[in-house]
Amino acid sequence: MPKEVWLPGDIDPCDSCAKIGVGIVEVMDGMDGMSSKQAAHEGLTGNRWLVKDSMIEQLMADNPKKLAEVLKRRIVLITEQTSKELGLPIAATTQTF
Ligand SMILES: [Zn+2]
Repeated sequence: MPKEVWLPGDIDPCDSCAKIGVGIVEVMDGMDGMSSKQAAHEGLTGNRWLVKDSMIEQLMADNPKKLAEVLKRRIVLITEQTSKELGLPIAATTQTF
């Protein structure tokens, strides 16, 4: 996976990472309704993860429309609350995409 420099305003996974998985980007609670561009400027916690499609499929099994959207877009924003519920590792800030 290529190492990347953090660019505020550009939080989408690069092409090579998008082939590996889907980017999960953590935003502050209450900020998950915003676009990724807006979140990149205002709501990021700094935590993000690259996960396999199969994990996303599992997480969003009850929402096929959103699932299809996320798989196409290759990125999803979740709140701190959700990442805690999912048990995503906080130390994953070193995992770039
Ligand atoms: Zn990448």
